[in-house]
Amino acid sequence: MPRSTVARIDLRALQHNYRMACELAGSARAVAVVKADGYGHGIREIAGALAPEAPKFAVACIEEALAIRGAGIRQPVKLLQGVHSSEDLKDCYRHEFEPVLHSEQQLEWLARCPAPPAFWLKVNSGMNRLGFLPADLHDVVDRLTAMGARPQLQGFVTHFACADDPESPMTERQTACFEEATAGWPELQKSIGNSAAHFRAGQKLFDWSRPGIMLYGGSPLLGKTGPELGLRPVMTLEAPLITRRTVRAGESVGYGAGWVAERDTIMGMVAIGYGDGYPRHAGTGTPAAVNGQRIRLIGRVSMDMLAVDLTSAPDTAVGDRVELWGQTVGVDEVARCAGTISYELLTGITARVVREYR
Ligand SMILES: *Cc1c(COP(=O)(O)O)cnc(C)c1O
Repeated sequence: MPRSTVARIDLRALQHNYRMACELAGSARAVAVVKADGYGHGIREIAGALAPEAPKFAVACIEEALAIRGAGIRQPVKLLQGVHSSEDLKDCYRHEFEPVLHSEQQLEWLARCPAPPAFWLKVNSGMNRLGFLPADLHDVVDRLTAMGARPQLQGFVTHFACADDPESPMTERQTACFEEATAGWPELQKSIGNSAAHFRAGQKLFDWSRPGIMLYGGSPLLGKTGPELGLRPVMTLEAPLITRRTVRAGESVGYGAGWVAERDTIMGMVAIGYGDGYPRHAGTGTPAAVNGQRIRLIGRVSMDMLAVDLTSAPDTAVGDRVELWGQTVGVDEVARCAGTISYELLTGITARVVREYR
């Protein structure tokens, strides 16, 4: 029998969160962002559950887009990082993938492509990772016209650097920059807005928003949890309690002997560790739950197991299921304890953990 360390995926919660994104997006339509294996939830199942409602999907790269087609899903798929070879453009054409082109090299591949796919241009409005500078945009579009690819240009995309921080003036600056840079092409579409932008009062989202983390119930905003924003957790990460015993005062637990019992403590070992993607940096005090009661981690997380203090849940038995995150303990809480964000925790769950869908 397999070890019962599982990530339970609640597809109803996913649909609830997607509908919330659509409502917040107003007149913009919401592209469902399912990159990185559906933020670790399984791209085929996630895209399948959203397919009846989502008009379009977005992924990072062509392999992910092919996985969506492999699941029999027909919607257009946007490739947020464009293409990585000239060959990819043929696949884009064949499968109706819409690459977001951001570099000179990608334009060269496009110029030599006999049947260019529908595509977008990435505008660098201040993130400074990828994209064409606003000042160069007219020149780029002129070159597209010259190479005969202008009819396939769908529109423009930009990405926010600081939308997680509602206080940051950057988001407004980027919005204005993008609007001005693209004003010459009112007939073309515009796409802006990660999850965080959906929660900004008065934020313009133009034609297409691109919610990602919020679909999975993770908070896109600093200092807020998903449930505080009305989102429902999609993943519940669970592992069994495999031993339970008393550690005497003065004894230590785990690698480095870093945690020492101040008093006699009922301790349990749970069959999950960083080899499953549970963050090693989650230290003593990180919350977990058993039978709906909150407990805390003690000592260092190992590769295959971790220790918990069962003092606050004395009626537990070997075999009980420990929730690492989900309904009782939010993934955002665990992320904070591990010094990271829910994105990293969710995408980091390894293949050893079985995904179960309902
Ligand atoms: C990942 C990504 C998104 C989604 O971001 P979230 O913060 O998860 O909502 C949107 N747009 C681009 C370009 C991305 O790379």
